[in-house]
Amino acid sequence: MDRVYNFSPGPSQLALPVLEKAQKDLLIYGDTGMSVMEMSHRSKMYTDIYDQAVADLRDLMAIPEEYEVLFLQGGATQQFSAIPLNLMVNKKADYIDSGNFAHLAAEESKRYGQVNVIASSREDTYAYVPEVKGLSFTEGADYLHITQNNTIYGTRFVELPESSAPLVCDASSMILSEKMDVARYGVIYAGAQKNIGPSGLCVLIVRKDLLGHAMEICPKLLNWEVQAKAGSMYNTPNTWGIYIAGLTFQWLKEMGGVAEMEKINIEKAALLYDFLDNSQLFKPTAQAKYRSRMNVTFVTGDAEKDAAFVKAAAGAGLVNLKGHRSVGGMRASIYNAMPVAGVKKLVEFMKQFEKENA
Ligand SMILES: *Cc1c(COP(=O)(O)O)cnc(C)c1O
Repeated sequence: MDRVYNFSPGPSQLALPVLEKAQKDLLIYGDTGMSVMEMSHRSKMYTDIYDQAVADLRDLMAIPEEYEVLFLQGGATQQFSAIPLNLMVNKKADYIDSGNFAHLAAEESKRYGQVNVIASSREDTYAYVPEVKGLSFTEGADYLHITQNNTIYGTRFVELPESSAPLVCDASSMILSEKMDVARYGVIYAGAQKNIGPSGLCVLIVRKDLLGHAMEICPKLLNWEVQAKAGSMYNTPNTWGIYIAGLTFQWLKEMGGVAEMEKINIEKAALLYDFLDNSQLFKPTAQAKYRSRMNVTFVTGDAEKDAAFVKAAAGAGLVNLKGHRSVGGMRASIYNAMPVAGVKKLVEFMKQFEKENA
């Protein structure tokens, strides 16, 4: 059987060279005589893999010296708790509610302090991202949290809000897909299973001056300062996940880095949106200004046709196009590892389906 084009929102398709390299090294990594999964995380053979992954991510994102890079467990969701636990000194924070994950992050933080949702598009089924100009920020807020790409609704922030509080960003579904000016953020975090590697792993980039302010009740394992001092190894890290992440970083460098990926991602998204804007059958659901380049959401307006389309597409090797259960319709997730050819094949398939079903 051939590999399919997998449009899953996450865990999602990995780059083929990454999988092939992992396959080649599965039994014996280099001259170690063992698999990466069997190595001590404290051994030199493993810490070399770890250090290289950190160095490559620093390089790819041009992460300044004054930021720490951590590889943590528990996915992005664990950080919904870790963020207030580490940052709430004044016990108040601002959140922008631009989607389901943003909402969950805000709800979780309410356990630890006063949370002000300063803007929300929840009432409009998150079809857009709230305007960042003219927001009123909370005096003395410890941070402002945003979800830069909304995976479920297919929207993205086109500008960043200008709060004086550190900006904390859930970048799970957009990290490494476009250039980010890291210096504008206090914290960037991302579950790995969209653009980086296997699930259960979370990359966290944090400005060093934000370390060391954790609440007394903060579990040690969630304390970023503890993890920074331990090089992400306060306990046994997800060694295999970090190794695959490292392979993805090397692949990205070979592809020409983030700037090159951004160009390709703009091209891929344009192929789909241009078709959708002119389609007699399919309609895009996100407001044009805020369209995501990673998750393209669309509907036919008829639930039966949607289901028929998803089924027929899967038969043609274009899988996991069903939209999230909360919105219905379709969603094509086109992260870094989805090649232009996969998107072209999808558009061709949609044209054909439209001819037969419009
Ligand atoms: C997928 C996703 C999450 C959840 O990630 P987990 O690793 O499952 O915790 C959080 N935020 C965003 C924006 C996501 O896309």
